[in-house]
Amino acid sequence: MAVSSKLRIFLERAGAPCTYWLILHKVIQSAFSAQSRNHADIINMHMNKLDLIFLGTGGGRFVTITQRRRTAGIRIVGEDLNLHLDPGPGALVHSINEGLDPQKLNAVLVSHSHPDHYTDAEVMIEAMTHGMTKKHGVLAAAKSVLVGNDLVEASISKYHQQMVEQRIEATPDVKFKVGNTEISATKAGHTDPDAVGFRFETEFGAFAYTSDSEYFEGIAKYYQHVRLLMLCVMRPSGKPWKGHMTTDDAIRIIEETRPEQTILTHLGMNMILQGPAKEAELVKERTGVPTVAAVDGMTVSFGENVDFKMGKGKAQQGLTDFF
Ligand SMILES: [Zn+2]
Ligand SMILES: [Zn+2]
Repeated sequence: MAVSSKLRIFLERAGAPCTYWLILHKVIQSAFSAQSRNHADIINMHMNKLDLIFLGTGGGRFVTITQRRRTAGIRIVGEDLNLHLDPGPGALVHSINEGLDPQKLNAVLVSHSHPDHYTDAEVMIEAMTHGMTKKHGVLAAAKSVLVGNDLVEASISKYHQQMVEQRIEATPDVKFKVGNTEISATKAGHTDPDAVGFRFETEFGAFAYTSDSEYFEGIAKYYQHVRLLMLCVMRPSGKPWKGHMTTDDAIRIIEETRPEQTILTHLGMNMILQGPAKEAELVKERTGVPTVAAVDGMTVSFGENVDFKMGKGKAQQGLTDFF
């Protein structure tokens, strides 16, 4: 007999059937809070900032199937914001390993219907809705992800979609709010024709994420006046691939938008083999804009300043690729 069944029988005999569930709930909660302490402490110290935690910095099929870099997406945590952006394979596991309780989420954003962006979306929704027991949170995703298109079926089931409080079909220029942060969808030029990026307006100014996209005429208008721009740079300079971003595309976008800081992330296998730090250096040389290549476990604090902090423990493994 399972320990939990024995415990239940014991408690029922003791005349306290409801207490069992309460105790079990507390046990689960305390297990989570022990794991969460690490990041929670960091976040509490920076309540006047937003933390962008790079749970994964890999992109594309070969990086995904080898996990040369993690493909867990980005967690964004602020005072009234706990959002997971592009929960690819590993998002749930790495979130828990980094002490970020997925049950605290209040938004899940999915930029398009490729597996390195959407596979863990359903389990993250299950966490956000406390095991599908309570309608909660915002789900904002591309049309292909929510309803499908000519190429793909919906990536997230109707069952999961109906458990969120607010479901947003993110097409370019659609705006919505999570807490005090106003978010808008930006246009992307990718092999999923419905792909979008996201732009976040905060009390500290704006930051944005391009998602997978090639350079196209007019892309810069979506990222004007952002302080921090995160670009999904799959390929290094000189290796163009239709519908995807190279370092050369990134340079053009940065030259037209002039952010205060840029981060290269969602790195493909060619990019990793070439050396993302070298590519970031090239961007900096050409544009004059401070640029870093993201590493797994890195946290960016976005406030009056944009500060970087490398992860601890397992997250450090990403650094071997970096240096
Ligand atoms: Zn991708
Ligand atoms: Zn893609």
